[in-house]
Amino acid sequence: MAQREKIRRRRRTKIIATIGPASSTPEVLALLFRAGADVFRLNFSHGTHDDHAARIAIIRDLETRFDRPIGILADVQGPKLRVGRFGGGRVQLQTGSHFTLDLNPTPGDVTRVNLPHPEIIRAASIGTSLLLDDGKLRLRVTRVREDHLETEVMVGGPLSDRKGVNVPDMVLPIPALTVKDREDLAFALEHGVDYIGLSFVQRAEDVAEARDIAAGRAWIMTKMEKPQALENLDAILALSDAVMVARGDLGVELPPEEVPLAQKRIVRAARALGRPVVVATQMLESMISAPAPTRAEASDVATAVFDGADAVMLSAETAAGQYPYESVNIMDRIIARVEQDDGWRSIIEASRPPPEHSAADAIAAAARQVAHTIGASTICAFTASGSTALRAARERPEAPILSLTPFVQTARRMAVVWGVHAVTTPDVHSMSETVQRATRTAQAEGLAPHGSEIVVIAGVPFGQAGTTNALRVAHVK
Ligand code: PEP
Repeated sequence: MAQREKIRRRRRTKIIATIGPASSTPEVLALLFRAGADVFRLNFSHGTHDDHAARIAIIRDLETRFDRPIGILADVQGPKLRVGRFGGGRVQLQTGSHFTLDLNPTPGDVTRVNLPHPEIIRAASIGTSLLLDDGKLRLRVTRVREDHLETEVMVGGPLSDRKGVNVPDMVLPIPALTVKDREDLAFALEHGVDYIGLSFVQRAEDVAEARDIAAGRAWIMTKMEKPQALENLDAILALSDAVMVARGDLGVELPPEEVPLAQKRIVRAARALGRPVVVATQMLESMISAPAPTRAEASDVATAVFDGADAVMLSAETAAGQYPYESVNIMDRIIARVEQDDGWRSIIEASRPPPEHSAADAIAAAARQVAHTIGASTICAFTASGSTALRAARERPEAPILSLTPFVQTARRMAVVWGVHAVTTPDVHSMSETVQRATRTAQAEGLAPHGSEIVVIAGVPFGQAGTTNALRVAHVK
């Protein structure tokens, strides 16, 4: 059998690459994986189930070819509000003019257009702001009627068919999962994706509903993109397996000056709970059509790395851009460069949350401390559910974390987690077997050179989730 190509990342912060027309062939996906994509994101706002099924099959083939677990994030669209269509496809709205949004499905013109969401029309009030086309146009409600809203155009501009509508001032009286989302969710779960990206979450109940449907088959990554979700951040995080700072829609609904603070707040809160957190959208936006990023974009990626985010994400850059490979490659280089900096290490040390009062956190904190004191090459975490590896990652240790698990699903979920290199391995039944397996695997994976020490953490009895309670130091002979 041909020797398998070994992929080892030289950085802790992970990369998520969104797949689309620019990146759906086996050749391009392999290039992106080699360049540094740890997780691939399927965006269910676009593409058919057949498209997504073909992409999932290619990614699972790549896993076999590279012998590495790869995470798949299925991002469901959520209740994105949109206007209907116009007679000529588009109109020009003048600032100061009047414009009506109604329930009439006929094509719109410069005076009106369909807004096929009666619940929004009912819930709006005088003064409610409506943002159109990613916030480029702004309307203010001046009159509410049973079947229409009258508005004044505060900021005008061109408006075309099916453009998005954001209503930042209001908790929308709609569930986070539409009929399409439920079908997409069922499809994604059937096809064994690892994460469900949940869009337009407003309340913890929205997450609870998706959790019930997923029933443990995939982890729930809640997208923070509504100001209302920020108000419920703690309750939402408590029910989420992971969280994404979805700066696209968040940036439409919040004023620009609020977005960096919201990003820092979400990352800090997620790190405190030990939930993986992703910073997403417009990270290398100019690379959709240019082979190199702006220096401001490089700084934006670096900021997320300094914040200690688990992962950074590419959207249109890899899904529809002209330079998908270059985008992943430069993101990999920026992260690796920042992580070599002493200043980055000091910031990560200073921002570490204190351990929670549990045996698992005591062991995870001790593992980091022991590894630091003896200069261990690796922290090996045996984990069934992923919890031991997550708690070790929460410590943001200097040594890489080798996560050993009998479950491929757990290994794939670890693809998004800071500093974790996951490997599947048969179950272990004793501490001596655990230490032996950890030593051999760390060596084989190129993480523990001869003569180095490793720190092994596990839960005894073995195979029981949530019992992290044992720590051993082992010498690699
Ligand atoms: C976002 O809004 O930042 C985001 C990631 O979601 P989407 O790409 O689905 O709009």
